[in-house]
Amino acid sequence: MSGPVTPSDAPADDRGEPPHLPEVERLESRTVELGGVTVRRALPKRQRRTIGAWCFVDHLGPTEGASMQVGPHPHIGLHTVTWLLEGEALHLDSLGSERPLRPGQLNLMTAGNGVSHAEETPPSVRGRQHGAQLWVAQPETTRHDTPAFEHHSELPHVASGGLDATVLVGELLGHRSPARADTALLGAALSSRFTADTVLPLDPGFEHGIVVLSGAISVGADRIVPGELAYLGLGRDELALAVEPGTEALLLGGEPFEAPLMMWWNFVARHRDEVRTANADWDAGHERFGTVTSRLARIAAPTFV
Ligand code: MN
Repeated sequence: MSGPVTPSDAPADDRGEPPHLPEVERLESRTVELGGVTVRRALPKRQRRTIGAWCFVDHLGPTEGASMQVGPHPHIGLHTVTWLLEGEALHLDSLGSERPLRPGQLNLMTAGNGVSHAEETPPSVRGRQHGAQLWVAQPETTRHDTPAFEHHSELPHVASGGLDATVLVGELLGHRSPARADTALLGAALSSRFTADTVLPLDPGFEHGIVVLSGAISVGADRIVPGELAYLGLGRDELALAVEPGTEALLLGGEPFEAPLMMWWNFVARHRDEVRTANADWDAGHERFGTVTSRLARIAAPTFV
């Protein structure tokens, strides 16, 4: 059977109908002490575990003169993505990488089946520290592979309606980041010294979210400030932003992730057994995690129950 279409299917035309957009879901970050620095953890939340493959977002600082000292610790099944607004961090890992990270640069470490690293504020660095560390869950196709490390000092910059965007991962406004992405993903650092009003094109197959690091951004009636995550949902093909002076923010997006994650301590897996094994391997000094040369003490795994 077919037809006719009646007004109970859909209105005859869309005059006066506001475009249907997903609700903005606002989630308060949790404050955590990490290696001597206060961080606001925006993801994961009980109500919202992932945005695409983004599964962890820590906003570090801004702190005045504090230093972050995180000794050698392991990871599996994820990429760490580190981005600084102020200060400096030294990345040391079991692949032999030794890389200072400065504002405007991106460090991306892939854990695969196992890696370990340390993150230090160099003793010579004083003053403000401000940045973010994010994790991206690796898909089944790559999560058992070997680890890797990338440092990017040249990232695409694009301006839109007074807003400056640096493309960290994926593509925005036709500019693509050289950074590795194992799934369809977007990460962009948004920045504006002045008031900015802009509309960014988005992939409607992605879900998106915003974390404000300083200043404020309004999406419709929702004014988003530091200390919260705004989850924007799926199905938006554009995003209108009203940006206040002095704003720094992260726009995150991606295709909804393929599988439920098992996240515990520094491990991203699928099953409890994988975490139990990784935990025991780290404490036994198993070669899958290699060795980091660091002046800091190795961090023991907490007991997995
Ligand atoms: Mn780490």
